[in-house]
Parts: sequence; C-alpha cells; structure tokens
Amino acid sequence: MAEPVRVTVWNEFRHEQANARIAAIYPDGIHGAIAGTLRALPGLEVRTATLDEPEHGLSEEALRQTDVLTWWGHTAHGEVADEVVERVQRRVWQGMGLVVLHSGHLSKVFCALMGSSCMLKWREADERERVWVVDPSHPIAQGLGEYFEIPQCEMYGEHFDIPPPDELVFISWFQGGEVFRSGCTFRRGAGKIFYFRPGHETLPIYHQPEVQLVIGNAVRWCAQPRGVNPSYGNALPIEPLAGYEGPDFRGHPNAAMAAD
Ligand code: ZN
Repeated sequence: MAEPVRVTVWNEFRHEQANARIAAIYPDGIHGAIAGTLRALPGLEVRTATLDEPEHGLSEEALRQTDVLTWWGHTAHGEVADEVVERVQRRVWQGMGLVVLHSGHLSKVFCALMGSSCMLKWREADERERVWVVDPSHPIAQGLGEYFEIPQCEMYGEHFDIPPPDELVFISWFQGGEVFRSGCTFRRGAGKIFYFRPGHETLPIYHQPEVQLVIGNAVRWCAQPRGVNPSYGNALPIEPLAGYEGPDFRGHPNAAMAAD
C-alpha cells in the first residue's frame, strides 16, 4: 500500500474566535472544516496547526513530517514569524506541497515564494461567482463540470500581481463584472504550489462540495513521491578524471565554507 500523504492544515484562527457570526459558520474553525473534508478522503493523514501555537504549529519537526501544507490567513499575516516563513519556503524547495487559500494570497509565505506583491482588487457585496474550468484534463479539476457557481462570495478581481502561473486551472467570473485567475499552479524548487481563490470567513464556502473536491484534488496533486534527495555543491567525479586532483579552494573567498 502507498504511504499516506501527511497533510498539515494551517489556519491563523482569529476571526472565528473574535466574531460570533463567523464562529457559527465555522464552529471548529476554518482549519476544522478543511481538515474534516480531507479526513473523509482515503490515503491522507491530517493534522491542524494555528498561529497561536508555539512556532505557529510549524516546527522543523512538524514540517519534516508534512508532505502538503494548506494555508489560510487574513488578518494576522504580519504576526507570522519570518523564521517560520523561511522554514516553510525551504521545505517547499525540498518538495513539500503548498495549497494557498483565498486571502492567503497576501501571506508572507505566498509572497516570498512568488516574489511579487500578490495584490488584487476586492469587494464584499455577496455577489455570485462562476468558477470556470479552463484546463479540463488537469487533475485538480477532476470530478467537476465545465464550471461551478458560488452563490455568494467576496469578489477578487484582476489584475492579480503574481508571476505568470505554470498552469491555469480556473478562471472566475463575478456578477459585478470582474474576472480572476482563481486556480494557479507554480513550482518552486522541488515543490508544487496551488493557489485557490474561493473562501471567505463570513461565508460558508468551505462547506460547499465543489470547493471541498478541489481542495482534496489539490492536496493530492501537490503531494510528491518521497523520492530522490539531490545533493548540492562541490562534487567529486563519479568516473576517474585524468589530471583532476580534487577541490583546491585556497585563495577562494568561500574557502572556509568549502573546507567543511
Ligand atoms: Zn476574504
């Protein structure tokens, strides 16, 4: 049997504690709702982590044991420690998958990995969203029709300041007239990243079956086989090289480092 995909569902978990209306929609927190969705799927091993836990629940060890991290944040992006952001970024480079949800577009983690402002237009008017599948054979769209609708949403509009995605899976249309690249994939180092737009703290969007289906598909798509561990830096030849006497770093500015 294949090894389970180890998922960490991360949530800043502030709105749900501060606002009774939001708590009524997500009584177990947004992380609880997303973890519940993922736990219903076979082959996944799911834990949750939140901002106010020590190291935000994302210690070196916790990340080492994580194959895919999902990220929801909004009001407290600035409270995420830079050290943890760098740790997450390094794990993505090593091959950890990352699913960034909705307002996570402005998280330090996503902005660091994108290298751009990740700004967009937004509006709270409880308008309708039609999410179009523009890459019908993509594994993340598996099980959907040509499009699905979210009856009430917060609008996100272009321009979305991200680098051009490797693949574009969804484009959203909004009742007010805007469009948005709602499902984007990226690769950074050995890691796969998926940004998925839907979800807002005051609306029950993470209870909607199509949204849950996409998040499950995305987690599977981002998960990597635990395969090759490449090494980097100065390399001894594999075959004999006539005349090669090995590294000589004398006089090189990195001599001390290279001697390790
Ligand atoms: Zn929102």
